[in-house]
Amino acid sequence: MILKLSNENEIRAFLGKEGFVFKKSLGQNFLVDSTVAPRMAAAAADKNTGVIEIGPGAGVLTRELSRAAKRVVAIEIDEKLRPILEKTLGDRENVSVIFADVLKTDLRKIIAEKLSDCERITVCANLPYYITSPVIMKLLREKLPVQSITVMVQKEAADRICAKVGSRSAGVITAVINYYAETKPLFFVPKGAFLPEPKVNSEVITLTLRQKPPVEVDDEEFFFKVINACFMLRRKTAVNSISSALGVDKGTVRAALENIGVEETARGETFDMRTLALLTEELLSRI
Ligand code: SAM
Repeated sequence: MILKLSNENEIRAFLGKEGFVFKKSLGQNFLVDSTVAPRMAAAAADKNTGVIEIGPGAGVLTRELSRAAKRVVAIEIDEKLRPILEKTLGDRENVSVIFADVLKTDLRKIIAEKLSDCERITVCANLPYYITSPVIMKLLREKLPVQSITVMVQKEAADRICAKVGSRSAGVITAVINYYAETKPLFFVPKGAFLPEPKVNSEVITLTLRQKPPVEVDDEEFFFKVINACFMLRRKTAVNSISSALGVDKGTVRAALENIGVEETARGETFDMRTLALLTEELLSRI
């Protein structure tokens, strides 16, 4: 018999009967508010979409994605969820579950092998909090043929990711993600929507991958190093922060800043994408 979990009591009772024990170390907070998964699925998929889901858990979001999308591939690290997912997703013909660590998975191969008949590919997940940044960075940096990434992350992470580059709330991740994607907060999800209840609230956000980066740089790796360097010593001048992080003498950094019309007292975390890109090119030509 297939179980269609639709409310907290049903999910709690089913997981209890299966003897499932939540693992905090795997970020296992399962969605029990039945209004959230359909909204995420509607944002991530239509009937032409192939969706990669990361961490299906008990399969609540997976079921909704399976209804909304053409095909779903869900990647779950916890083998203990195998019998549970067989019971909750066994009737969904367009879903396949792969038991693996997403960070060690060749997603390009999965897309080619399992989703090649889909017009567009998206990623959708209620992300395990302990790997929010590594997962997002993997998805972006591997330059996969993915159109958008709709993910639930901690509210604070959402605010940082969706901040304006150069604003007070921005961080390294804001600038790096912005290079690859446009970011948009979708909706707030209170901590009470999960079992067990986490300490913090969450938010669903969408990253829409850019066809072309917003700035042009010759050396992406060095660009990311410069971004890191700008944020290394927060509240210090960019000259100090960059010089110490990149091991470049202060005179060289000063000259580079002067050439792009930036005051030598400016702080690196206030730079917008264009300034970061110009600075990268200036530094590259000098070191
Ligand atoms: N999607 C389910 C939901 O919304 O109820 C579960 C979300 S729960 C926050 C995160 C899920 O990711 C868990 O099922 C956990 O076992 C899984 N997970 C954790 N680390 C993982 C990894 N490295 N690769 C794949 N799945 C992982």
